[in-house]
Amino acid sequence: MFATETIQEAPKILLHDHLDGGLRPSTIIELAEQTGNKELPTYDKDELANWMISTANRRNLELYLEAFTHTISVMQTRAALYRVAAECAEDLALDGVIYAEIRFAPELHLMGDLKVAEVIESVLAGLEAGSEGKDININVLVSAIRSQKRSKEMMEFALRFREKGVVGFDIAGPEIGYPPVDHLGAFNLALENDFPLTIHAGEVGGSEYIEQAINQCGASRIGHGLGLRDDISVSADENLKVSALASAIRERKVALEMCPTSNMHIGAVQSIGEHPIGLFLDFGFCVTINTDNRLMSGTSLTEEIKKCGLSFGWDWDTIHTLMKNALSSSFSSPDLREDLNSKLVEWYLNRSTNEGNDYAPY
Ligand SMILES: [Zn+2]
Repeated sequence: MFATETIQEAPKILLHDHLDGGLRPSTIIELAEQTGNKELPTYDKDELANWMISTANRRNLELYLEAFTHTISVMQTRAALYRVAAECAEDLALDGVIYAEIRFAPELHLMGDLKVAEVIESVLAGLEAGSEGKDININVLVSAIRSQKRSKEMMEFALRFREKGVVGFDIAGPEIGYPPVDHLGAFNLALENDFPLTIHAGEVGGSEYIEQAINQCGASRIGHGLGLRDDISVSADENLKVSALASAIRERKVALEMCPTSNMHIGAVQSIGEHPIGLFLDFGFCVTINTDNRLMSGTSLTEEIKKCGLSFGWDWDTIHTLMKNALSSSFSSPDLREDLNSKLVEWYLNRSTNEGNDYAPY
């Protein structure tokens, strides 16, 4: 009764999804052909989908990021960015996502003759077009590449588009050696303007990256946060021992944007069953579940929920909690949050009251 289709139909909230990590393989090929790009590893869409997954799945973040050279190479014109964004909205709506925050780094799309503002405008227009007439709302997070030095400039652009769909700021890319405090100029500008921040931290780095992101940079959400697992231990009598940092994150309800399949592909966990998402959730952290890169991870939000649900024995109430956590820590307007919350309550309470709470994904 509780088939994959039911999870797909359930209203879902997605906070961590990269635009350049979610293209349709067929679109990459068509865009490459239009521009005479001869660099793709294959021009067959099924082979390309498999190539992306196997390239990503090499247990190393730097190797994982290699797969992006091909998506980014075809996202260098207004028309391409518009199309990719519109298809992103369509694909998420089909997966039952009713609210998403999509992130991308404008500085990666300047290899042609686009200007930063044109990149952002094209993506916003594409997301709007793809969402039209569908039950989905999408906002944008501007990311800066942490190994580069343009974060303050990108933050200024994010603020310029604040009333037009850009709701937050992030840093992304290789983590080790590029600590959050390197970008204090950007983060201070965000804080001065009361602009929300989420920071990739503890994806492969330790909890010191998370500590910096929260305490020195002002992030209200953490991308991944796996490094926190070293700050938590459970004694033989099931008592939880947490560090001061983990305790503060739990008390302040700092959302952890967890992305299980992606974390497994970069080697941060060996299997979904070993992912700390189950433990963090059990101990009351504000856990959210996300896709990160749907193309490279060969996944969807439905798929992530299904895999974790099986591994950790989740029921519909658990999934409702994950979605409530995501909604309450989203950077959307209070009015939209209220509206979306009613949709969640209506669906999940109905589900668990009328059809039982047990969750059986197959
Ligand atoms: Zn990410």
